[in-house]
Amino acid sequence: MKVVVNRDNCIGCGACEALYPELFQIDDEGLSTVVENESIDDAKLTEVIEGCPTSAIAKEDKGTCECPNCDCKKEEE
Ligand code: SF4
Repeated sequence: MKVVVNRDNCIGCGACEALYPELFQIDDEGLSTVVENESIDDAKLTEVIEGCPTSAIAKEDKGTCECPNCDCKKEEE
């Protein structure tokens, strides 16, 4: 699963960072950015997504190959 922040919608309120600082940080531009993280707490992420006032956070499941034995992950966007 990939987590993305639509920075055009983000208003830098900091709610995501406050709720889930292991995954979201407010960067130098005052907007949220996703921190690379190997394990994502799905319940916590859902809470953050629902708590974002501008719906700027999304999970991207499509196109993500979970199989361990091929190189198709290289082609993920
Ligand atoms: Fe931006 Fe939403 Fe995070 Fe607020 S909760 S900083 S609007 S992504």
